[in-house]
Amino acid sequence: MRYQNTYVTLDTRLYHEQQPTPLDNPRAGHFNTEVAKQLGWLDDDELMARWVKILGGQYVPAEFRPLSMAYAGHQFGQWAGQLGDGRGLLMAQVLDNNDKLQDLHLKGIGLTPYSRMGDGRAVLRSTIREYLCGHALTQLGIPSSNALGFVVSDTRVRRERMETGAALMRVADSHIRLGHVEWIASFAPDLLNEFTDYMIDTYYPECRQSETPVLAFLTAVVERTARMIADWQLIGFAHGVMNTDNLSITGSTLDFGPFGFMERFDPAWINNHSDHTGRYAYQNQPAIGHWNLNTWLPHFMRLEGVTRDTLADCLAPYEATFMQHYQQGLCRKLGLPHEKESLTLAFEWLTLLEDNLLDYTNSFRALLALVAPDDYSHEQQLLSTLTAELTDEASKVWQDWSTRYLAQLQSVSVKQALDSMRENNPVYVLRNSMAQRAITAAEQGQFEEVNRVFELLANPYNVQDIAIELDSKPPTPHAPQMPISCSS
Ligand code: AMP
Ligand code: MG
Repeated sequence: MRYQNTYVTLDTRLYHEQQPTPLDNPRAGHFNTEVAKQLGWLDDDELMARWVKILGGQYVPAEFRPLSMAYAGHQFGQWAGQLGDGRGLLMAQVLDNNDKLQDLHLKGIGLTPYSRMGDGRAVLRSTIREYLCGHALTQLGIPSSNALGFVVSDTRVRRERMETGAALMRVADSHIRLGHVEWIASFAPDLLNEFTDYMIDTYYPECRQSETPVLAFLTAVVERTARMIADWQLIGFAHGVMNTDNLSITGSTLDFGPFGFMERFDPAWINNHSDHTGRYAYQNQPAIGHWNLNTWLPHFMRLEGVTRDTLADCLAPYEATFMQHYQQGLCRKLGLPHEKESLTLAFEWLTLLEDNLLDYTNSFRALLALVAPDDYSHEQQLLSTLTAELTDEASKVWQDWSTRYLAQLQSVSVKQALDSMRENNPVYVLRNSMAQRAITAAEQGQFEEVNRVFELLANPYNVQDIAIELDSKPPTPHAPQMPISCSS
């Protein structure tokens, strides 16, 4: 691998260099060969031979420079003060095969100075959820952390019950969270200049071309965040814990806990069991992204040339960027040209889904069979299910809508429309029931289901032979939700 450990060259107040605390008897959970290839890990015989020991914290290659990072954050809208890597270590930074810097971060690997009341561990259940979520989003084409693999162990970890300890080697283009800057502002404000230079030079070098690099950088973070959240809304993803310590400065996200993929369409859906007020409900995500950035940006007023007004200019494009990306995406999902009539149809369609609690993923995909009834057998089944779930009254709405939708499609070629629909509407997302099934088997030592779900999600836009009925099956309407809450 081509190591480029630059974080460790920054001021030592920003991190604590330390070794992982090994897990007992680590064993392979899953290994992502594609990520290994991207990193250059696959070409290194020593890393390949010892990957289980490395992920289990039992062996640290000489080129690694493990450290825990300090950061802070706003959690559920409240200033939470210092947080930091309480159970994870940045192990190494490497240039991948696109010459892009990637962080290797081992999560669940013992106590650090930032552990607070925690035990420094992660349980198998949450490790598998994070592993599959990063993979699912990445393969859907949405910016996200991903992972090289995970291991399971004999270390026992106490949560509500005793559980199996595990560790995940997370891979992300950066582990710098919005909360890093919040930490600096509170605990080491003299570092802001140097740290901002580091963020720009490392992650946004193109901003150096601007006359005002800092403002160009901040605007770029705003725009990337807006686009990522638009992607989430389009695919039906709800992060669940959009605290400032979980959003990265590259317009990506870290830490998947109580996330969910929308099943029966309810914009007010709260997937995080601990989110009593619904702050992070699916429909609130765009506004919360704005809230986070608005809380974050004023810290940069300490820098020369940055004022309240110039920061307002940086934040201003957020809404328009989000709306444009979201609306274009909706039109692409329907195979329609991006124009007013298409958007009217799109919003009517979403209302139909909401009023009838239809499955978000399946319903969009079913439209392929409406456009080309003979070519899409899986989608034909989805369409039959959809129409069977409609009341007589809703059927009339559907008939009227589908007639107008097909008329609007006349303005584009059928092939173009179908291509766009196939490329923007997945067949498979990570439903909670799928993750749960894989977890239950893994807790018994069986990893075949993790493998199968992983393979399925590697190609989410294609119907696959390895799929089972459960993969496309939403819960019954109004079924009680599986309780999934914060850090575990
Ligand atoms: P998360 O919910 O994973 O985003 O974590 C929020 C904060 O709590 C971060 O600072 C974590 O490092 C810390 N944390 C979560 N779980 C643990 C744990 N078991 N031990 C130590 N720190 C933890
Ligand atoms: Mg976090």
